[in-house]
Amino acid sequence: MARTKKITCDDCFFRRNMLCALALEEPCTTFRPDHPEGLRPPEQMRFVFRQERRTQATWAFPTAQEQAARHGIPA
Ligand code: SF4
Repeated sequence: MARTKKITCDDCFFRRNMLCALALEEPCTTFRPDHPEGLRPPEQMRFVFRQERRTQATWAFPTAQEQAARHGIPA
């Protein structure tokens, strides 16, 4: 698995376009990378059918690092 660089709020679309009203120490789950094409919708969730009994929550908000990896932020 490729390592991704540590993202900051300075990489976020909302910060760069002065749309963020949060004053946090680190990026939040709303993080979206700032692309030249603008804000792109997140990738659709995929169905995964499991045979075993569910023991964890079905879904959780991705971390900012996971958001960056989803959108292909280079290392
Ligand atoms: S990651 Fe969250 S806190 Fe940081 S700039 Fe983006 S929206 Fe604001």
